[in-house]
Parts: sequence; C-alpha cells; structure tokens
Amino acid sequence: MTNIILLGPPGAGKGTQARRLVEERGMVQLSTGDMLREARTSGTEMGRRVAAVMDRGELVTDEIVIGLIEEKLNGAHAGGFIFDGFPRTLAQADALGALLDRHGLKLDAVIEMQVDDAALVSRITARSTCGNCGEVYNDLTKPIPSDGVCTSCGEKAEFKRRADDNEESLRQRLMEYYKKTSPLIGYYYAKGNLRTVDGLAEIEDVAKDIAHLLG
Ligand code: AMP
Repeated sequence: MTNIILLGPPGAGKGTQARRLVEERGMVQLSTGDMLREARTSGTEMGRRVAAVMDRGELVTDEIVIGLIEEKLNGAHAGGFIFDGFPRTLAQADALGALLDRHGLKLDAVIEMQVDDAALVSRITARSTCGNCGEVYNDLTKPIPSDGVCTSCGEKAEFKRRADDNEESLRQRLMEYYKKTSPLIGYYYAKGNLRTVDGLAEIEDVAKDIAHLLG
C-alpha cells in the first residue's frame, strides 16, 4: 500500500496524474477541491459556507478540509491514498501526519510537481472537464471533441469550466499557494519525503517519472 501527496500550484497537473494512478494502480484519489465542489453542488450547509471563499480563490478553513479527509480515511484502502490538493497549510500537514499515525498508515512520498506561472495561466484559463467522468481537456492542446463525446468515457457529455478558473481568481490562488502551501516543500524535505518531477513535461512523461519514483 502506497500513500502519496501530490503537491503543486493550481494547474500543475495533480488531478490529471491522480486519475491515472487511480486507473493504473487502484489507488484512491482524495481531492479536497472535488469534495468541496460536490458539497456546493449538493447544496449542503458547508457547501454554501465555502462557495464565496472558493470563488475568490482563497483557502477554506483548515478545520473544514481536515474534517473531510478524516471522514474518508476511516475506510482504509489497500491500493493506497493519493492526497490531491491537501494538505495546503502547515496545520493541515501536521493534522494529516496525526491522522495517518492514528490509522497505522504511513506517507511514502510527497511528489512536488514543478511548473512555471506562465504555463499555469494558459493551462487553467483553457481548461474544461467532462461532466461525466472528469477527464481534463484543454482548448489548445486537447480540445473538446466536436461531436461532444468524451474520449475517455465514450459518453455524450457536458463539458464544464470551473467558476474559479479565471485570471483574477487564479492570481489569488497562486498567491495563496506561495504564501501558505509552498512552505510544505521545506517541511517534507526535512522529513525526507520530498520528491520532485517536472510538471511541464508531457502528461505521459510526468506519469512515467511518477511511476519511477513509486517503484
Ligand atoms: P482545487 O480543486 O484543489 O484547486 O481547490 C479548489 C478550491 O477549493 C481552492 O481554491 C480552495 O478554495 C478550496 N480548497 C481545496 N482544497 C483545500 C485545502 N486543502 N485547504 C483549503 N482550501 C482548499
């Protein structure tokens, strides 16, 4: 069982690589961003509370996201967990360490996906996903099929853009990343967990680099 964190700014490709690991290794993707978007769509009280914060590109409280992860960890999984978009603060990193200890789990690697800001802006403002299976498309490099049929799930789908995938929100999300999340690079380096891949490489090559790290 392998448990990993995918660390990197918005648009680094964490979600894309996490989906591959789910398919190829039977791992379980725990994306706090997806969980929060689900809470919004289903109209829960918590979903309503976080909506404006998310749209502004700010972080929701540690308490909320730690609670979401805690619920999911209760069902341990043999394939291992991929933490995608969590932890994003030092407090979340400490809480995750304590939660894993409590469940007798260990963190095998923290994979930092390195990218530069110019690439992030163009990736994010061109991004959309299949409303059915979550496959990620890009207006420039992987356009939505003209017949509206997703190349991954084969279904006729609605292709969605995220409310926070606009330049203004992205600027705020990047600032939050550099201020609050990037200190985790030093934190996990000191713990001996940090590994780095070039997130600007082709999707296939990034996947190979990650597979190589995981052995
Ligand atoms: P993501 O899909 O990971 O880009 O997350 C989308 C938004 O959800 C972020 O901009 C935050 O507002 C919120 N969010 C997701 N994960 C976290 C987290 N671990 N801590 C705080 N806020 C989060």
